[in-house]
Amino acid sequence: MPSQKTLTLLPGDGIGHEVMAEAKKILFWLNAQGDTNITIHEDVIGGTAYDQHGEPLTDATLAVCRQSDAILLGAVGGTQWQNVAYDKRPEAGLLKLRKELGLYANLRPAIVFDELIDASTLKPEIVKGLDILIVRELTGGVYFGTPRGIEDLGGGERRGINTQVYTTSEIKRVGRVAFELARKRKGKVTSCEKANVMESGKLWREDISALHHAEFNDVTLEHMYADNCAMQLLRNPSQFDVIVTDNLFGDILSDEAAMLTGSLGMLPSASLGAPGTPGLYEPVHGSAPDIAGQNKANPMATLLSLAMCFRFSLEMPSIADHLEQAVKNILAAGIRTGDIMAPGCTLVSTSGMGDAVIAELSKQYMKAA
Ligand code: NAD
Repeated sequence: MPSQKTLTLLPGDGIGHEVMAEAKKILFWLNAQGDTNITIHEDVIGGTAYDQHGEPLTDATLAVCRQSDAILLGAVGGTQWQNVAYDKRPEAGLLKLRKELGLYANLRPAIVFDELIDASTLKPEIVKGLDILIVRELTGGVYFGTPRGIEDLGGGERRGINTQVYTTSEIKRVGRVAFELARKRKGKVTSCEKANVMESGKLWREDISALHHAEFNDVTLEHMYADNCAMQLLRNPSQFDVIVTDNLFGDILSDEAAMLTGSLGMLPSASLGAPGTPGLYEPVHGSAPDIAGQNKANPMATLLSLAMCFRFSLEMPSIADHLEQAVKNILAAGIRTGDIMAPGCTLVSTSGMGDAVIAELSKQYMKAA
């Protein structure tokens, strides 16, 4: 009997409901095969939570999340909440969840599937076989540092202030995540900062080097200035395996790397905290109000996030492998939602894609039996 795990599903808003329905279908299917024993809780976040409770994330929902092994989230947001106060907006619920759980490492894979190579704006020979993992520090740096604010200097002059600040423990804990992940991949970490012009970058470089020397000598470490990394991602992205960087540079570099793949509906993410903290798994895309409720959304980013959840939080890497293989096989078979449609392929709906994943998983399970 597989060990019992608890997963909280937070569909959120817009297409979040539709993509989550497909994840749920797969989770029920896996439980029915007897391969998993997952207790599923479902709760509300974002605009949907605001409509029901007047808060985008209630303390009760947060408590349910804390008691879970992991959380799978759809997406939050929508124009109907644009006039709500900032602290009650859908996005505030997501920020509260990340902050309260202390999720300091954000993992964003950028993988180019051969079948979707034409979706990239780069030449196929540049992005073929691309498989990069960006580890972004998520709870520190300039987005949180103080002092911050806008000062009135008088005479029509103002001054905007933000502070970039990192401590050794903040740098080392995210560095450790990156090195450990690299050990399970191609064994290379590229650490990015601006040590040439920023003291926090100098400290980042020194602390990552010290950690490498003390604990991860088997992994190759390379330091790179963040601006050079931005250029190298476009020039020769295949040189990278794991990139670790701070909150600000990570925000930009992870979006750049994601766009190398060209397909928003295929991009998963994970946010991890201290050992024992539930991980948060979510697609990179938003609630897509333009297609919400039409059964058109691509659920793959959510299903690949679920695969990451099986790998990093639920300790079932073989299920993660099965799910990722199912996605690859479906792409190879030319089955597509509208966002990744190509000539000669078969167009399916959101639920049609979920059904195709289950059909593929069934084939893999039959083969293994
Ligand atoms: P978006 O990602 O929702 O949509 C951008 C475009 O990509 C749209 O044309 C949409 O139809 C398409 N798209 C996105 N996901 C898709 C999918 N799975 N399948 C097919 N097409 C897909 O970004 P946006 O339009 O800038 O934002 C809409 C709302 O989502 C806003 O309220 C924003 O704040 C919110 N948002 C939330 C998150 C999150 O929950 N993590 C992230 C980004 C944006």
